[in-house]
Amino acid sequence: MKARTRFLLLCIITLVALPFSSVTAQESGPVYVVQPGDTLTAIALIFGTTVEALVTANNIADPSLLIPGMELIIPGYEEISGVLTIHEVGYGETLSSLSFRYGMPGDSLARLNRLVSPGRLYAGQPLILVEMENDTSARLENSLLLPRIGDSKLELAVRTGTGPWSLTTLSQTEIKMWVVPGTPLVVPGGEHWVGALPHPIVSAEVDPLPAVQGKTTVVSLELNQPGWVEGRLEDRTLNFFPLDSHQWIALQGIHAMADPGLYDLEVRLYASEGGELTFAFSQPVRIREGGYGFETINSVPAETIDPDVVGPEEEMVALLLSPATPERHWEGAFQFPSDYYTDSFISVFGTRRSYNYGAYYYYHTGLDFYGSGVPILTPASGRVVFTGSLVVRGNATYIDHGWGVYSGYFHQAEIYMSEGDFVETGQVIGKVGGTGRSTGPHLHWEIWVGGVPVDPLDWVEKVFP
Ligand SMILES: [Zn+2]
Repeated sequence: MKARTRFLLLCIITLVALPFSSVTAQESGPVYVVQPGDTLTAIALIFGTTVEALVTANNIADPSLLIPGMELIIPGYEEISGVLTIHEVGYGETLSSLSFRYGMPGDSLARLNRLVSPGRLYAGQPLILVEMENDTSARLENSLLLPRIGDSKLELAVRTGTGPWSLTTLSQTEIKMWVVPGTPLVVPGGEHWVGALPHPIVSAEVDPLPAVQGKTTVVSLELNQPGWVEGRLEDRTLNFFPLDSHQWIALQGIHAMADPGLYDLEVRLYASEGGELTFAFSQPVRIREGGYGFETINSVPAETIDPDVVGPEEEMVALLLSPATPERHWEGAFQFPSDYYTDSFISVFGTRRSYNYGAYYYYHTGLDFYGSGVPILTPASGRVVFTGSLVVRGNATYIDHGWGVYSGYFHQAEIYMSEGDFVETGQVIGKVGGTGRSTGPHLHWEIWVGGVPVDPLDWVEKVFP
């Protein structure tokens, strides 16, 4: 009895003593290499600790002096050692695939990241990892395979060009003749890193990740067999088109006012158009804020902010710009639709707007150019799908560039085109004016992708896809 009491007492002392042991400066524990732009507050937030704990653990004299490249001991992870890094989870990556890629057991990864639901990582999620110390090149020469229902080990071996006994599971505890669907298998000498997506997908990419309010998101899939791809982002159907027989691309605008957070991105592969469903995969993707500003415009005609007028016009335009035609008319980056631009624009895309002392209910759906009576040039070739006079847009033209990409030109003084006309890059389609919801002559230029207005500057600066 006495011995037992003494043992219990020891346990209590140990438990009481443990929390205090980390107060003194640590000599061991994992380190994080400070990156340019890091602050102690941001580092503390990522690793679930406090600025005070970081200062104590590292004997920091001046917390405002943080030098990139400097190694910080991260308190609270005493059971592990090494260099901690942050990895942003890619679309299709799961705990199993990351565990394989970084050589860390899945449960350690889950514990390290305090994951509440390890089975549901989202694309764009920052994950704490320990940098690999062993030789990683050998590991990455292998690839990972997710068997489907009905797959036998022999079939998988034939398909991957290896022997059935060479296919190993991640745990590598046993080599069985049967495979369990969804259990990752390591394929020795595999050519591609296939993440955790099922066999027909060689790679999947979402760019940018996280997706950004008001920006164009590119979803690309590379298949290793012919097929037909469909998908959706939350409640929006993605317009997938083949770039060649194995590459599929969908371009989708993210609404400038979309609530930042997680949105389900689903991809489905069919044997052929209208054929049998081969597989479906869904993973949440993070959408982050676009960091847009605010502006007030207090002298527009009352009619142009009347919901009874604006509503039907918006509905008409949304319907007009929703089809995705399979021919892609543009090639390379778009050109500016006006020669009259400088380093500054009257108004840029995404700015939250208040009209006539109202709330910031609107946002700027395009890019504005100076000029009066100057020519409007086509930024890329396409087919004219609308010309006419509207209350908000004034004299307007819309051009279909294919794949669900459209451009629009508002407040025109003159319209030179008609619906159905095919226009080439650089062609003059009208003259700049001040018709519609405008406080003076200017060109308002819009680009819509997948039924959503996006930042047109991206299309001048980047090449899609
Ligand atoms: Zn504008």
